[in-house]
Amino acid sequence: MTRKIRQAFHCNQRTHVQQLWLPVRNGMIYCSPACGGHCTLAAWELAWSRGRALAARLGVGWNAVVWENLGWHFKAVDRTGLLKVHLQESGDGWTAFLGHGDGGNWTGEGKTPGTAVKAVRKAARTALQTLSKLLEATS
Ligand SMILES: [Zn+2]
Repeated sequence: MTRKIRQAFHCNQRTHVQQLWLPVRNGMIYCSPACGGHCTLAAWELAWSRGRALAARLGVGWNAVVWENLGWHFKAVDRTGLLKVHLQESGDGWTAFLGHGDGGNWTGEGKTPGTAVKAVRKAARTALQTLSKLLEATS
């Protein structure tokens, strides 16, 4: 395959995959073909409502993100995209992630979204101090 054909193939493949993840409304169902979990419109609305409430609770610069994967899920992401806060599966605590991508290199947990953010920042600072000591010890 030539480079141009290969690029076009990957582009089409990505577009095709993106289209498979576009939710389709069918009565009370709002679910994408790639998911297939029969997600509901009510669950999508609830995820957005909870995501916006979470972002508002965290303050200026935080935005709600909603995604689908056998159900509708939400999180809040800060303006840099490096801090993310999720509701824990148990529903009675929060987990913050710090790093690139969907997750992060560090996590912190808290009873509130704010304490989870403080915990992840503390975890990253602790790791930084550990690295500094290692570098100092070996220089
Ligand atoms: Zn679905």
